[in-house]
Amino acid sequence: MQTDFLDKLRDILGEKGLLTGQDVHAGYHTDPRGTGDVRPEAVLRPASTSQVSQIIAFCHEASQPVVVQGGLTGLVAGARPEHGEIVISLERMNKIEEIDTKAGKITVQAGTPLQVVQEAADAHDLVYPLDLGARGSCSIGGNLATNAGGNRVIRYGMTRDLTLGIEAVLADGTIVNSLNRHIKNNTGYDLKQLFIGSEGTLGLITRATLRLFPKPKTQVVAFCAADTFDAVLDLMTHMRSALGSDLSAFEVIWAKTYEAILADVAGVKAPVPLGHAFYVLIEMMGSDVVNDSEKFETCLGEALEKDMIVDAVLSRSTAEIDAFWDVRDGMAYAMGKQQPAVGFDISLSIADMKTIEEVLLTRLQSALGEVRLFIGGHLADGNLHLVAKATGDRPQPRDQIQDIVYEWVGEVGGSISAEHGIGTLKRAYLRQSRSATELALMRTLKQAMDPKNILNPGRVFSSQANHLG
Ligand SMILES: Cc1cc2nc3c(=O)[nH]c(=O)nc-3n(C[C@H](O)[C@H](O)[C@H](O)COP(=O)(O)OP(=O)(O)OC[C@H]3O[C@@H](n4cnc5c(N)ncnc54)[C@H](O)[C@@H]3O)c2cc1C
Repeated sequence: MQTDFLDKLRDILGEKGLLTGQDVHAGYHTDPRGTGDVRPEAVLRPASTSQVSQIIAFCHEASQPVVVQGGLTGLVAGARPEHGEIVISLERMNKIEEIDTKAGKITVQAGTPLQVVQEAADAHDLVYPLDLGARGSCSIGGNLATNAGGNRVIRYGMTRDLTLGIEAVLADGTIVNSLNRHIKNNTGYDLKQLFIGSEGTLGLITRATLRLFPKPKTQVVAFCAADTFDAVLDLMTHMRSALGSDLSAFEVIWAKTYEAILADVAGVKAPVPLGHAFYVLIEMMGSDVVNDSEKFETCLGEALEKDMIVDAVLSRSTAEIDAFWDVRDGMAYAMGKQQPAVGFDISLSIADMKTIEEVLLTRLQSALGEVRLFIGGHLADGNLHLVAKATGDRPQPRDQIQDIVYEWVGEVGGSISAEHGIGTLKRAYLRQSRSATELALMRTLKQAMDPKNILNPGRVFSSQANHLG
């Protein structure tokens, strides 16, 4: 990289804003999937939207590809640099700019960690309901770019549903201020949607206005065991109809995954003993301080009487609520511990989840010999995470495992990515979940908004011109 090129970037960003040489530590090319092969030559750390605009305009002029980084917790290798790219890290753009408690809105810079936003809302007796295991490290910009889902989609929706407005910088440095602050605003195209879920390929998100909600006054969590999938479905229907919108999470863990969590995640304790087929975390958040706990307990009692569950414990304190959620959050860590293995984040109709373990184990084992499967996730959203691991002393047959799993997902009309995005890891399979016309429209948008292909090239689509997948 030319010295005068870096000098110009230093002029824009100042000394703190440009890292090169030894200062570019492994944290800038490591994500939960491991350390990438490419150590970037430079990391740009803008402190304002104006600086982002200037550096992108400069990179655009020089046709210099960039990759955008938030907290680097993404699970599809989208934020790791590839050859020839420099990093733009939003880590210095981490301020909460405004909270409007009456209207329930918060405006933040894109590098702000999710947990900081949650805590800011909490301090005003409000809630920013997006929640996921990586809350302490992931950024609002990364949440928006991947349209993150998480644990409370059943009640509040995905990041898209929590976003009022966005400010973004386009590939040529143009700042698009679409920081709408209204719930209702039908004035032409809803431009923020171009950036939400597009994984940094259409623009770099710099600020966002997000929705806040009244903080629920009660929170009760149960951890249950069930012996059949039909019983789990009956339980979900029962809890949904009894609790309505107060049902805030319904998370299911398959037996093998529960075993792995208890074995591999430090500090978690089994809320209910091993020995069942499914484990379910159910959460209610309501507003009736006097009656909610009793209502929840009555619903669970009915579920026990009707054999939907065979065992259950109910939280009696905040510490127990946290302990139950630690088991659920431990799923990501237990699955990560299976590496080398192949991870999936799929959407399915709930009916197809009944046979997932049997069908996939049969198909994978007939092709590959002994394979272990770990399954669990946001059942009520139709979203499961799974990890497949071929055992034995051999390299992981990644492509074969992916082909077999995604072929089945295609057969049952599922989606190859429910909430993690496509990144670089899943792009070869994108055509399995999107039609040719949808892919062509995506290509048209990318070409129109980033004709030089400098923004996150190769994420979602292959970098080759006119080639998707
Ligand atoms: C333990 C654990 C649990 C998780 N649980 C969930 C879960 O339940 N639900 C879920 O959806 N995800 C989950 N994830 C995945 C991950 O946390 C989310 O995808 C998160 O939203 C990524 O945020 P980030 O700031 O780390 O983004 P990064 O990893 O830094 O980036 C992700 C993508 O967004 C792009 N990007 C980042 N910032 C910007 C920006 N400002 N403008 C434009 N593009 C940008 C990057 O280039 C990259 O393509 C989990 C991850 C872990 C490690």
